Order: sequence, then C-alpha cells, then structure tokens
Amino acid sequence: MQSPHSDARVVILGGGLTGISTAYHLRRPWLLLEKESRLGGHARTDETQGFHFDKTGHWLHLRDPYTKGLVQELLPGQMVPVERKARIFSHGVLTRFPFQANLFGLPANVVSECLIEFVRAHADPASKEPPKNFEDFCNKKFGAGISRHFMIPYNQKLWGVHPREITAEWCSRFVPIPKLEDVIKGAVGDVPPELGYNISFLYPEKGGIETLTRALVARLAGGDVHVSTPVDRLDLANRTVTYGGETIPWRAMVATIPLPELVARLADCPKDIEEAAGKLRCTAVRYLNVATKSSPKADFHWIYVPEEKYPFYRVGIYTNAVPAMAPPGRGSLYVELSDRGAMPRVDDIMPDVAQALAAAGAINSADDVLFAELKELKYAYVVFDDNYYSCVDKLIKYFEANDVFPRGRYGSWIYNAMEDSILAGREVALRLNQ
Ligand SMILES: Cc1cc2nc3c(=O)[nH]c(=O)nc-3n(C[C@H](O)[C@H](O)[C@H](O)COP(=O)(O)OP(=O)(O)OC[C@H]3O[C@@H](n4cnc5c(N)ncnc54)[C@H](O)[C@@H]3O)c2cc1C
Repeated sequence: MQSPHSDARVVILGGGLTGISTAYHLRRPWLLLEKESRLGGHARTDETQGFHFDKTGHWLHLRDPYTKGLVQELLPGQMVPVERKARIFSHGVLTRFPFQANLFGLPANVVSECLIEFVRAHADPASKEPPKNFEDFCNKKFGAGISRHFMIPYNQKLWGVHPREITAEWCSRFVPIPKLEDVIKGAVGDVPPELGYNISFLYPEKGGIETLTRALVARLAGGDVHVSTPVDRLDLANRTVTYGGETIPWRAMVATIPLPELVARLADCPKDIEEAAGKLRCTAVRYLNVATKSSPKADFHWIYVPEEKYPFYRVGIYTNAVPAMAPPGRGSLYVELSDRGAMPRVDDIMPDVAQALAAAGAINSADDVLFAELKELKYAYVVFDDNYYSCVDKLIKYFEANDVFPRGRYGSWIYNAMEDSILAGREVALRLNQ
C-alpha cells in the first residue's frame, strides 16, 4: 500500500454492519466516521413505549461457518432459532411461501391457470434461452399464470419499477425455482419441503437486531469511532478526508456510504465518474411501525401481499418470532408500503391500512392498533437496470485504483443481507491487514 501519509490510519466511512465489521477485523489503526448519532445503519432497532421495531424485519440468515461462529461467540445462547413461517396473502387466502410451489388453497381457476402455464413454459424450448429481463425470467421460469398472480405484481410493488426494467441476473440466488413435480405436489397440498435461501433464521431474544450490532460494537478495539460526523469531502489526489471542518490524511479508505454519495463528495470528480454515478437508481422504502393492543392471533412471521388493492407488499410480526419485542400480551409489526408518492400523514393512511391488515389477519381487528409510526429508508433496493453492471464496475475500479474500497450493500451498490455485510467488512480488513 503506497501512501504519502505513512502514519495515517485506515478511514472507514459509515458505521453500519459493513463498517463495524471492517473495524472489528482490522489489525491496523482505524478511524470510523458515522453521520448518525449511533452505529448500526440499517441494523438498528427503534423503541417506543416498550415496543421494538427494526428498520423493517431484519432476520438473520446465516450460511457461512465463520459468521455462525462469530454470532455464537458474540451472543452465546442469546439468539433464538426460528423456523420460518412465511405466507402469501392473495385472493383472500393465506398460502405458503414461495407462491410458485404452494398453489394449494388458492381458488381453483387460479391454480389451474398457474399450473397449465407452468407446464406450458416448462415444455417450451424458448424458456431455456437467456431471459431478456426480470419479467421475461418470470414468464420463462414460472409461466404466465404464476407471473401474473404473484411474481410481476409483487415485484412491481417491492421495487417500485416494473420487472421489465430490471435485469434477470440479480434474482438467481433469491428467487427459488421449483421442479415441475414440486409445483404439482404443492398445487394439490402434498406439500414439498421448504424452499429458498431463508427457511430458518436467528433473532436476538431481546432488543431487536440492534442487540447483535451492539455486541459487535462492544468488541471494537484499535481505533476511534466518531458518530454524528458526516463526511463532507474526499480528496483522492492528496488522500485526505474532510469532516466537520477538519481535514485528515488516510492510508486507505473503506467506503460503506451509498456509492452516489461517495462520488458526490469527491474533490475534482472526473466527468465520466459523475455520469456513471448519475445513472445509479435506488428505491426508497416507506414503512410503518405498528403497535397492537393484543398479540396477533396469526402465526406467521411475515406475509407477501401481491395484490394492488392492498396498500402494502410485506407485513411482518416481530412478536411472533420473539414476544419480548413488545410488552406482554401486545404485538409489534412492520408494514412495508407500496406507495412512493408524496409523503402522506400517518393519520390519513392508517384507517385504510388497519382495515387491510385486519383483512390479511395480521392484526386481530382494525381497532386493535395502539399506535403507528411512519418511517422511510432513503436507500433500500438498488435497481438492477441495463446501466447497472457497467456503471458500478466503472466506479468500483476507479475507487479501488485510488485505495478507496467501496463495500457493503450501498457502498458496493448490491442486494445483500446482513451476513454478507459482515463478511464484506472482514474481507476488506484482511486485505488491508496484509
Ligand atoms: C427493507 C430492508 C429489509 C432488510 N431485511 C433484511 C433481513 O431480514 N435480513 C438480512 O440479513 N438483511 C436484511 N436487509 C439488509 C441489511 O440491512 C444490510 O445487508 C445491512 O444492514 C447493510 O449494512 P451496510 O453497513 O452495508 O449499510 P448501512 O447499514 O446502510 O450503513 C451505511 C452507514 O453509512 C452511514 N452514512 C451514510 N452517509 C454518510 C456520510 N456522508 N458520512 C458518514 N456516514 C454516512 C449511514 O448512516 C449508515 O450508518 C434488509 C435491508 C432493507 C433495506
């Protein structure tokens, strides 16, 4: 590593899980700069009147032996293992997740339409050709029926853009593709084993997901954390960073703040870099924290809601995973809203939302709501459109050539989970430790 500032530290921009993990694994002096008043980024938990709410459900799905060991070491015996109960709410009924492998329980005409189109797509040689976009992927892999009843409307609500604007590449890991026999068995109620990448998860027994974040923060050593410290300017030529009127040198930098925000802070930004950053798209998520007077009778952890007539696309019940997320006998939920227009007033939307939640069985009745809070995540889902790969590739190469390492969900501009963020921080720290 070449640096004009030989005694300078590794500077980490952003203190979400990626930045925290980077600091945890670094064996060189570091400085972490975080704009919010506490660390954790998206992996934080808010508390109101004894009700706990993550920034919508943050369930921990671990695959990697290293992260499994780390979490066990950080919170021994304090992570509750939970068998996923995910459902789809459509046509007035709850069916199992994923939709495509669990058609049983839907109206007969919907089941037959989905089955016939699945078999047709399965037999069509054209379905083996590379899909043009995510909509095409759905039609080729699942057929027009499953696409029309779930894949297209649900993903339109989730991403805030039509699936035909999204490339097919992103979904191979996250969208389970059942075999023909599983679809048939699922349609007649001969239920196949759980499918997908998240059939069970871990969750802290109290305090929400931030309990995990705090456990990692408590282990930090060998550096300094500055919170309430937004980064203002980054000078690649002089290898300095400016925050709060102070300019300091860096030896290397790990940038976990959103990639377009990193570019916006560059001194002397090249035109092509500015243009590439200008093409990156991201969807915001607006959501409600909902507290209920009684524990919901429903047993699911979360539901997917594809139909346009409902104002949300996903609803989760924290207290069904861990009752301590609310005072005894009460419930805490998250409700992810599909509308991305002007910011509404919570009191204006709650009557309709409460009715719809009761219709879906997520709350016991519309008047069971104790309070609701409306929140927004500015950065939620990066959009994998046609510009995505070339622009992200160009930006990452540019920064890495200058010893700035963009990492994490918004630093690398990817779709990832908390485990990936922890691993990304570790990977870059091990690289910088050499
Ligand atoms: C709606 C939603 C649901 C999710 N559900 C799950 C789930 O169930 N399970 C799961 O494993 N993962 C889930 N995730 C993914 C998970 O949130 C991320 O993988 C992880 O939290 C990303 O961590 P990060 O550190 O990369 O980014 P962030 O958490 O975004 O951290 C970036 C940090 O940079 C800070 N920052 C920004 N600008 C500046 C600046 N100028 N100066 C200084 N600091 C700055 C921010 O305040 C933030 O703290 C979900 C994500 C979303 C959006």
